[in-house]
Amino acid sequence: MIPAAHAVIDLDAVRHNLATVRQYAPDANVMAVIKANGYGHGLLRIAEALQNADAFAVARVDEGIRLRKAGLKNRVVVLEGFTYAEELEEFIEYQLDAVVHTSVQLEIIDNRKEQGQLAVWLKLDTGMNRLGFKPAELSSTYRLLAACPIIKQPIGLMTHLANADDKNDETTKNQIRLFNDTVAAYPGQRSIANSAGILGWDDAITDWVRPGIMLYGISPYPEATGQQLGLRPVMALHSRLISVKSVEKGDTVGYGGSWRCEKSTLLGVVAIGYGDGYPRQAKAGTPVLVNGKRVPLIGRVSMDMITVDLGSQPQARPGDAVILWGDGLAVEEIAHCANTIPYTLVCGITQRVQIFC
Ligand SMILES: *Cc1c(COP(=O)(O)O)cnc(C)c1O
Repeated sequence: MIPAAHAVIDLDAVRHNLATVRQYAPDANVMAVIKANGYGHGLLRIAEALQNADAFAVARVDEGIRLRKAGLKNRVVVLEGFTYAEELEEFIEYQLDAVVHTSVQLEIIDNRKEQGQLAVWLKLDTGMNRLGFKPAELSSTYRLLAACPIIKQPIGLMTHLANADDKNDETTKNQIRLFNDTVAAYPGQRSIANSAGILGWDDAITDWVRPGIMLYGISPYPEATGQQLGLRPVMALHSRLISVKSVEKGDTVGYGGSWRCEKSTLLGVVAIGYGDGYPRQAKAGTPVLVNGKRVPLIGRVSMDMITVDLGSQPQARPGDAVILWGDGLAVEEIAHCANTIPYTLVCGITQRVQIFC
């Protein structure tokens, strides 16, 4: 028996989305970003579906090691690099590319005498103020790295866009210009664009692009869905009705009694809650598909259940199929109703939700 709350992952859609990345960036190499358990879709399952990506990017070294232990041979870039010398050992042992973004890493690398064992990407901070060296630090940093025997040459050069999901924000143009001006005199491959950069900023497309969210069929823009951008949604979150009952005018529903019925109606209880990763912040009126038809969420989301108004679906019965997001109900729309971004919803699916492909 399939568990009530489960997710279905469409691996054909993942492959389609990679092909779509290549249409938007036909001359670029693709570093498929599969950090955070493949944005909640399953690290190894997504990596195996995307084996013709030119490289993978993960956030942490343990994610890269999992890819290697599963036998994946693609280049793997670890976006947070290493912090300790012991971690650097793992990069060498498992042949992972390291992002170098802070001077502590330079000291660790400087102590190594092996030849050409480590591929690195030097990260410049062009305004995000998260990871990276300031443009003024590039020449000294580059010189140090170029002199380290362990580093494979040429060094890659990258930066990250802070505001690319807003097409009217000048910050992106300024970041791209600052990056290009700063690296102009250096050899090595360049990488700037995340999904929003690929989809909205042609100048951000350079030697390597780094799509994440778009591979999962989701738009990085608040005003569009992935489907409108030619992407196919990958994750669908399913459950079922487990109770249907009538409620009277004036009855309250759920914790805190925050919902009061304005008229008598039929109430459905669905086996999904924040314990599965359904957002507790989803407000009353958030759409839920029952037997393929939209009905509104009412009352508070609890750990294991939500309640919906089945007034428009009087034939609904316990056992009927429910979709929380997926075909016909974009995760972008649910994110909007929960005052969050779709990234957090797909990343937030919990262990209890079994995944089927
Ligand atoms: C997560 C991440 C990406 C991918 O971003 P999306 O918005 O999901 O496309 C690209 N580059 C870096 C450095 C990241 O941390």
